[in-house]
Amino acid sequence: MSGKQDYYDVLGVGREASTGEIRKAYKKLALQFHPDRNQGDDEAESQFKSVTEAYQVLSDDQKRQRYDQFGHAGLEGGAGAGFQGDIFSHFQDIFSDFFGGGFGGGSRQASRARRGRDMGVTQALSLEEAILGCKKEIELHAPTQCETCEGSGAKPGSRPKRCATCAGAGQVSTGRGFVVFTQPCPSCGGEGSVIDDPCHTCDGAGWTEATRKVSVTFPPGIDQGHRLRVAGQGLPSTSGGPPGHLYVDVALEAHPIFERQGDDLITRRTISYPAAALGDSMTIELIGGSDHEVSIEAGTQPGTIITIAGKGTPSVNGPGRGALHVVIQVDVPRELSREARRILKTLREELSGADENEDEDEDEDGKKHVKTA
Ligand SMILES: [Zn+2]
Ligand SMILES: [Zn+2]
Repeated sequence: MSGKQDYYDVLGVGREASTGEIRKAYKKLALQFHPDRNQGDDEAESQFKSVTEAYQVLSDDQKRQRYDQFGHAGLEGGAGAGFQGDIFSHFQDIFSDFFGGGFGGGSRQASRARRGRDMGVTQALSLEEAILGCKKEIELHAPTQCETCEGSGAKPGSRPKRCATCAGAGQVSTGRGFVVFTQPCPSCGGEGSVIDDPCHTCDGAGWTEATRKVSVTFPPGIDQGHRLRVAGQGLPSTSGGPPGHLYVDVALEAHPIFERQGDDLITRRTISYPAAALGDSMTIELIGGSDHEVSIEAGTQPGTIITIAGKGTPSVNGPGRGALHVVIQVDVPRELSREARRILKTLREELSGADENEDEDEDEDGKKHVKTA
């Protein structure tokens, strides 16, 4: 790193410049030389990198002090390496401070310190758990940040070096003028840095395989196919960025009594033929423990659906509950006692006779009874 220009000169500020003056000078120069405004201009790009490097040092009190004392030599190696990571991520951070937003757009996004990869798991829930909501400890067998090197992949005391091919950007551009092709840097695989002295614990990967538990809260009403995002519980970043997210897909287990359709529940109940004809009532034990009394009207037909509003599952997206649908099946007995057979035969005759004289059912009841006895 010999023959480097003085950082104060690069930014055009005096050695007594305040942090505010340094920021101001950097902002002006960075905007002027930003590669997005100088497509294909190598000179501008190298200027941009120089001013960013200078700002990175002079805006940090510790680094600035070391630089003031020892010059560039004070920053090389060890904890004071002058140029770390990815200049564009630094640039983005500064400009989100300046302007409350990013700068340049998506094309530079790839060169930032990237978030770790997302992970996906599927968690089976019983219907009770889905309706009432629950908390689960999910065990993950997944890479976790290496404790020895704190995820850098470099042996403790050393650090990853800026990739020479892409100058830390993680991507290389080819072409001139209006058409520029950008691709991940082949030397560093897009990391922006290379490791000369890898950590022994993780062989330079920055992560080790481990088992960890993540506590996940499932809200009441969650359903099959719903996906929860647990921020920051995915895979660690390999470029110094934040970890990825964990996505939990819900798989609903079948329930012996209730079937779920959206926020509605369906249950099938079988009643006797006399209960269907004469009317009856039944008690349905709802999930959560409460009972609901359902009345069966006289003359209920097989397949009748009795709908009870508000007794389905809670809506995961807000207030309100679905309905409970009770599908009525009528039991036809397969075996009959002698007495039951007799009564049914009587009934058959009664019903066939009643077809023509519906109004006189009760009057004729006694007569017909006598006939068949
Ligand atoms: Zn390690
Ligand atoms: Zn590279």
